[in-house]
Amino acid sequence: MTSTDQQPFLSVRDLKVHFSTEDGVVKAVDGLTFDLAKGKTLGIVGESGSGKSVTNLTILGLHDRERTAIDGEILLDGKELLTASERELERLRGNKMSMIFQDALASLSPYHTIGRQIGETYRKHTGASKKEARARAIEMLRRVGIPQPDVRVDDYPHQFSGGMRQRAMIAMALVCDPELLIADEPTTALDVTVQAQIMDLLKDLQQEFGTAIIFITHDLGVIADIADDVLVMYGGRCVERGTKKEVLRAPQHPYTWGLLGSMPSLDGPVDVPLSPIPGSPPSLLNPPSGCRFHPRCAFAEKVTDGRCSSEQPLLQVTDGRGAACHLTADQRRDFFADHTATRSH
Ligand code: SF4
Repeated sequence: MTSTDQQPFLSVRDLKVHFSTEDGVVKAVDGLTFDLAKGKTLGIVGESGSGKSVTNLTILGLHDRERTAIDGEILLDGKELLTASERELERLRGNKMSMIFQDALASLSPYHTIGRQIGETYRKHTGASKKEARARAIEMLRRVGIPQPDVRVDDYPHQFSGGMRQRAMIAMALVCDPELLIADEPTTALDVTVQAQIMDLLKDLQQEFGTAIIFITHDLGVIADIADDVLVMYGGRCVERGTKKEVLRAPQHPYTWGLLGSMPSLDGPVDVPLSPIPGSPPSLLNPPSGCRFHPRCAFAEKVTDGRCSSEQPLLQVTDGRGAACHLTADQRRDFFADHTATRSH
């Protein structure tokens, strides 16, 4: 993407992830392409069901292989993940790539101490002794800001606060110095102060280790804080991508524009009043024809020939910047300005 001239560490090409269900085939991800360089953060934003979490579970190889049809290419440091064996993926998870989930309580075992859980992950991937693993667990707890780590290492998850559990999960995710960290809404359940602390922690750790981060969220405020580049997903497809500044300051897709209008003031377009996007995300079993956003798009009727409901707009990308929409650049500029003015009155 545009934020770097380095070779991408992670390269995803035309990824399609389709699930078989009793009701039919769910096209959860339908042709997704992006790159991520070391030391950079890609924010993936979208509503529930947009395909952002499925994308990342697929990168990690944690999808249900029997019921999932996958096409495309995922290269991690030159290694193709889609054809990797379960054993290879197991080795890569933890060593090379790792994930932080939204719910630390569900991800940590209640039956084992925090120290043991972090230490076991370390031992599994490095062959370290129990003593070395315990020392490493204490070191990691210290790094993520747990006070008295040499004492708290023997606590169970229920003895930690929500924020501390999230930190412990980050410690576990980073214990083997992964080069790719996928964070799936890791701060959603936390209060604003702890949320800010966790974001700062991730940024510090990224600086220290040069980790590449994919940060999944529905919150553009979080994206504004942490991302270098942004990918906006809707209905299993990327509808807009660019640097954080490009996407937040000058959105090109009506959906991104709507997301920005549905959140409190941000370092983005000026004076956009709060206005939730009407309607619901599309069914991926039976998605709308043409542009998947057309039933909710305030601009669909401005495009002539009914193209929005009949023809899928292609994502045109130049230098990492682009949007999938039939509006011309001039139309977009005029309509977005008009619409903002109308909503302001
Ligand atoms: Fe809206 Fe049409 Fe653009 Fe889709 S292609 S976002 S419906 S204007």
